[in-house]
Amino acid sequence: MGLFSRERPEPVQLGDVTLHCEICKGTEFWTRDAQLNTAVASFFSLEWTNPTASCFICSQCGYIHWFLPLD
Ligand SMILES: [Zn+2]
Repeated sequence: MGLFSRERPEPVQLGDVTLHCEICKGTEFWTRDAQLNTAVASFFSLEWTNPTASCFICSQCGYIHWFLPLD
């Protein structure tokens, strides 16, 4: 039961922008939702929202791009 088994990386569209990796300029990513732990949530003063971040993991270099939900 590997983390990325039976799954292909895919391009990610953020609104009008296609996500490119900050490091290697790759365009295919695995997608994960990550529950922020208390320490991280406190750092961002988000304790009360129980936030979930969207994570896009570059299939070429493994760099994790993650985004907080902005309402
Ligand atoms: Zn990359």
